[in-house]
Amino acid sequence: MLVSATEMLKKARDGHYAVGQFNINNLEWTKSILLAAQEANSPVILGVSEGAGKYMTGYKTVAAMVKAMVETLGITVPVALHLDHGSYEGAKACVEAGFSSIMFDGSHYPIEENIAKTTELVELAHANGLSIEAEVGSIGGEEDGVIGAGEVADPAECKKIADLGIDFLAAGIGNIHGKYPANWKGLDFEALDAIHKATNGIPLVLHGGTGIPEDMIKKAISLGVSKINVNTECQLSFAAATRAYIEAGKDLQGKGFDPRKLLAPGAEAIKATVLEKMQLFGSVGKA
Ligand SMILES: [Zn+2]
Repeated sequence: MLVSATEMLKKARDGHYAVGQFNINNLEWTKSILLAAQEANSPVILGVSEGAGKYMTGYKTVAAMVKAMVETLGITVPVALHLDHGSYEGAKACVEAGFSSIMFDGSHYPIEENIAKTTELVELAHANGLSIEAEVGSIGGEEDGVIGAGEVADPAECKKIADLGIDFLAAGIGNIHGKYPANWKGLDFEALDAIHKATNGIPLVLHGGTGIPEDMIKKAISLGVSKINVNTECQLSFAAATRAYIEAGKDLQGKGFDPRKLLAPGAEAIKATVLEKMQLFGSVGKA
């Protein structure tokens, strides 16, 4: 069974740790992340971008696969299936498809329009038992074709959006998607602190978790971040393990070309990355 992310993030906020959102791309990704969460006895959020949803042939396929896999793998830790950076239409489609959580990314709309659309989606999500995340101040970098400028969110705008009844809030604090450039200035903790104080303790979300130094992650958690999104890092570890397998010529030995063998090192690598992040975020044993 899937659960909304509301309870797990409130517990994380009160317990001073963060729950990881790990994005899924296919069956292997989903299986690795679920197994890691179970092994770590940690709550987990499976993130699905609109692009990944399309790649997996649609949200209905994704919801059916995840629900079935939670059951057949005997996963007992809390699992939320969450739309990542959803459009207005995408958010509605995921409510219908059986997701347990959505993000509406209205950060590119003028604030008044962001408010109107968020208000409508909060009502829809809550009426169907889903949690909902909203975003203020676009996150830098590129995610599935969505380019963000890496703004620092305005605490007053954050309060306006938080007051709409959303369950957790993504606020830009200098974080970006993808790999961080060498000249990156780091997270803006003053802004984070101001946002946290302005938003009445709503769990905050840190996007672009790949490549943020560990001490910054820990400090962000201490300042109210309760959900951290990780995507690129799993992709990098999957690619590195697959490359090593092929460069070692293992696909040419025996039945090494069998996709179940070919993809196994990558799947193990994802699991290791997820376990490492759960340790860092402090969610191990918190299921
Ligand atoms: Zn993001």
